[in-house]
Amino acid sequence: MAGQAGIGFMATCPKCGGYLGRGHRCWGGRRILTQIRLALLGALAGFFLPWLWLDRISMPLLATTAVLGLVLTLAVRRYARF
Ligand SMILES: [Zn+2]
Repeated sequence: MAGQAGIGFMATCPKCGGYLGRGHRCWGGRRILTQIRLALLGALAGFFLPWLWLDRISMPLLATTAVLGLVLTLAVRRYARF
């Protein structure tokens, strides 16, 4: 413990990506759940967005936009690393 002050201050946890401050509680398992939830949200957004400006909706289009939303959400999350 002693002598490590300042080293782990700005470091991030390899498991959950959170800041390794004092009292860090690892939520590595929950991070996967968050990612799945975000991916589902992205898919939902991709599924419902076409309804806003398109008159004729087809299932292939919805499937495409849903997958697009999912992939975009994951890509943004990966890029932003939040
Ligand atoms: Zn952690």
